[in-house]
Amino acid sequence: MGFYFQQRRATLLAAGLKGRAEDNSISSKRICIIGGGMTGLTLLVALHSEGARRLTLYESEDEILKLGSKANHRLLHPTYNRWPMLGSMDPFTSLPHFNWHSDSAEDVIGEIRAHAQADYNDIIRNYVKKNVTCKKLSRGGEILDVTYWFKVSNGLLNSKVNST
Ligand SMILES: Cc1cc2nc3c(=O)[nH]c(=O)nc-3n(C[C@H](O)[C@H](O)[C@H](O)COP(=O)(O)OP(=O)(O)OC[C@H]3O[C@@H](n4cnc5c(N)ncnc54)[C@H](O)[C@@H]3O)c2cc1C
Repeated sequence: MGFYFQQRRATLLAAGLKGRAEDNSISSKRICIIGGGMTGLTLLVALHSEGARRLTLYESEDEILKLGSKANHRLLHPTYNRWPMLGSMDPFTSLPHFNWHSDSAEDVIGEIRAHAQADYNDIIRNYVKKNVTCKKLSRGGEILDVTYWFKVSNGLLNSKVNST
């Protein structure tokens, strides 16, 4: 599945989680996002715009959007996998957050990074924890009842977090 599909999925997931939260109380729900790739970053911003405020995005690398950021030999196209459907060659995305157009992976990711820094810097600063790897997670009885175990990259801390 391509970048655009994952971004659309993340956007729909954020709306779905808001709809699922009792009394639309998404602001009080603790939500963990594992991975600061295109999906995680889109989900973080989409959840924030839906009103979620107890968010944490954990990224095992020292920066978000690292994967593919040096791939100047790869072409990214939003709907390449829908060809030959009509409209499948449209090079532009149509999303509430992080729109892009077909280009090399390096340029697309570079532009999204610059856009994130310019327009979502506060969200990233407040909610993203880098150098933290999720080692294990387990589901409780409810769909949103998940326990996560983390490891910081220097190996000094193992912590456990419950989403609620
Ligand atoms: C070889 C290849 C070629 C592709 N070519 C295209 C293409 O041309 N066009 C296109 O649209 N799509 C392409 N894709 C698909 C595209 O790469 C994915 O859709 C996109 O990367 C998905 O983004 P993501 O954020 O879900 O995952 P990723 O980009 O993989 O990001 C996941 C992030 O999570 C972090 N992470 C992973 N595990 C943990 C953990 N346990 N704890 C904390 N952090 C963690 C990683 O460090 C990473 O930053 C390709 C995929 C592959 C493998």
